[in-house]
Amino acid sequence: MKQDNCIFCRIIAGEIPSYTLYEDEKFKVILDVGPATRGHALILPKDHYANLYELPEETAAEVIKLAKKMIARMTDKLECDGFNIVQNNGETAGQTVNHFHMHLIPRYKNDGEILKYIAGKPGQEELEQIRKTIVE
Ligand code: AMP
Ligand code: ZN
Repeated sequence: MKQDNCIFCRIIAGEIPSYTLYEDEKFKVILDVGPATRGHALILPKDHYANLYELPEETAAEVIKLAKKMIARMTDKLECDGFNIVQNNGETAGQTVNHFHMHLIPRYKNDGEILKYIAGKPGQEELEQIRKTIVE
């Protein structure tokens, strides 16, 4: 499955160059060209799925297994101190390329707060209401 106007499909097809860290039948892992930190990488399934909603369950399980392998190797080689795993779904959530991808972002001591959010302060009633909305 390939979409002609998709930049990641074109990278996977070899039409656009990339810095490949890993490749197998189903996945390609490349360096992000606009990295948040040194070594920021992207896991791309070779088949085109727009986002996590569309990704088959089996592929989703394989992505997290691959992420685990990659961060072990990258932590060793890059000597980073931790990792953020980021995966955006939908424009509102910051997704700019509509081909599922998982960001692997190495973190280094003192690299700055690159993924900070402001913690809300919902009351117990509000939390309970949200819980009900989701589970019922
Ligand atoms: P997102 O905002 O989650 O959709 O992430 C898209 C990511 O793709 C961004 O971090 C971009 O820097 C990255 N990106 C866009 N074009 C390329 C490319 N040709 N090669 C590698 N990474 C890319
Ligand atoms: Zn694609």
